[in-house]
Amino acid sequence: MESEFDFQAIYDLCIIGSGAAGIITALEFARLNPQKKVLLIEYGYKDQPIENELDNSIKNVNPVNHHDPYECTNKGFGGSTATWGGRCVMYDKVDFIDRPIINGGCTWNTEMLDEVEQYLPRTTSYFECGEPAFDLHNIPKFKDTRIAENFKEGVVTDSIVERWSMPTRFGDRYAEDIANQTNITLIECYEARDFSAPDKDGNVATVTIRQVKNKTTQEVKAKVFVLAAGAQETTRILLRNPQLFKSIGGPPAALGKYYQGHLSGKIASVRFKGDPQKTDYGFLIDDEGVYIRRRFQFTSDFLTKQNLLNTAIWLDNPLYFDPKHKSGAMSLMYLAMITPILGKKLAPPAIAHSITKGKVNAVHKHIWNIIRGLPGSIVTPAAIFYKRYVLKRKLPGVFLFSPDNTYALHFHAEQVPDVSNSMELGADGETLVINYNLTDADVDSVIKLHEVLDNWLRECNCGELEYWFEKEELSKAIYAMSRDGIHQCGTTRIAASPKDGVVDNDLKLWGTNNIFISSSSVFPTSGQANPTFLLGAFAIRLAEHLTKMA
Ligand SMILES: Cc1cc2nc3c(=O)[nH]c(=O)nc-3n(C[C@H](O)[C@H](O)[C@H](O)COP(=O)(O)OP(=O)(O)OC[C@H]3O[C@@H](n4cnc5c(N)ncnc54)[C@H](O)[C@@H]3O)c2cc1C
Repeated sequence: MESEFDFQAIYDLCIIGSGAAGIITALEFARLNPQKKVLLIEYGYKDQPIENELDNSIKNVNPVNHHDPYECTNKGFGGSTATWGGRCVMYDKVDFIDRPIINGGCTWNTEMLDEVEQYLPRTTSYFECGEPAFDLHNIPKFKDTRIAENFKEGVVTDSIVERWSMPTRFGDRYAEDIANQTNITLIECYEARDFSAPDKDGNVATVTIRQVKNKTTQEVKAKVFVLAAGAQETTRILLRNPQLFKSIGGPPAALGKYYQGHLSGKIASVRFKGDPQKTDYGFLIDDEGVYIRRRFQFTSDFLTKQNLLNTAIWLDNPLYFDPKHKSGAMSLMYLAMITPILGKKLAPPAIAHSITKGKVNAVHKHIWNIIRGLPGSIVTPAAIFYKRYVLKRKLPGVFLFSPDNTYALHFHAEQVPDVSNSMELGADGETLVINYNLTDADVDSVIKLHEVLDNWLRECNCGELEYWFEKEELSKAIYAMSRDGIHQCGTTRIAASPKDGVVDNDLKLWGTNNIFISSSSVFPTSGQANPTFLLGAFAIRLAEHLTKMA
């Protein structure tokens, strides 16, 4: 796939990293500027070994709440979309509103949201996830439908949806587009490392790249640089290049700080009162054949007034590993997932862990569930297997009907931007140390919002929550179950001044005039949303901004 690389040339744009962000930025800019030359630099390469020096030099201080580095990202053309789930979720208004609980960490504003929304149609097209409608009120086919009998919308809503991409593997999907775009040069197996110091106008002239296998170095010259190396590697490169910030008296205080992901897990089930057949427990399919799914959310006004963190809660299956669910289909899928080689083929480790919780539990009882549930124990998983692994647009997940109208609730919640959650350089100047913890404010907000949901469902006479833990055990349970590291935000956040952030509203690095960041690391808040879809919109916006500048 590699194209001709001219070491002497001054590229108009040099993009570091070819994940979703790098690919979208490159394609958008190159199409808008056919006369300009774009260089796309990628660390990974075809037939790369399983291990790499970048992931091997990450120190994960809290393995309880943060995944192992190899579970968090992928290297190579297409980046982490090689294993991502494909869930496309839009940020909400509340994510752009300062709330006391955020501790001054909301360093962007709702104008930014309004501006970014214009890029959503192009973003959905890159992600192959249908029309840019994330509210069932705006989708005629599903307008006025409800999640369950008697549910009414108020402070709790059931109409905001997630959309699912194919899942689009950006490497496979856009290889041809990149190759056909004659003004893009892609070089793989190179690590971007050291920028030259900015000149008096803040312009940086070169970046040194190192061949991954033989370690030879070269200088690349460009007029503009975009860091799109994923949140953790973008942050590491900047931490290693303090000379970039000389004109502002050193690296911004926020660099590497305020690292956020999401709290995620299950502490309760919902028992609906109405007709089980009227519960919308699974996927909806829109007119374009795209899977969409509703979730409980809380209005931005309510969250702002109550000073709570943004949270989505969706219907889920009971815990797979616990044979008490009595479902033969679930037991079979669980056993497949814990089978060493097969399990790895069925799902990437972070996703497999969310299903198995890393437990090998009561195998004989699962086998008994399978026998009792025949033939459904085989037929249901076989149909799912076909839809999930054989069809082009994959079934994104498995949600099974509950005859007694009871579903586990899966929460996915915003984190406070906390200064001690950070990525920092180790003493060797190479290791990236990841400090990541939950705070009491994060955990309390999750508990409070379950109470809000419970009260709301009771008020509507729709249902009620059944907790899996005693009230006083909830906090401890959330601390123990929640693990992220795949939705990385916050460490190079947007802010109006280098006092508060690392890039300006146009994603330009404070202290320089020609380095920009295309990564979810620029998001100051994490909201309830998985970050990649919004990142796509920001990448398109950045390409347009660079075009205006050029
Ligand atoms: C298992 C899993 C499931 C996920 N599911 C979802 C989901 O459902 N929805 C969602 O929104 N998000 C999901 N994510 C997160 C999503 O994959 C990332 O948000 C997204 O890939 C980030 O895109 P990116 O381009 O910023 O970074 P990446 O995709 O990580 O790409 C960065 C690229 O830069 C390269 N690179 C790094 N350092 C250098 C360097 N120094 N020089 C040159 N190249 C370099 C890397 O090799 C890599 O190819 C998931 C992630 C994982 C791991």
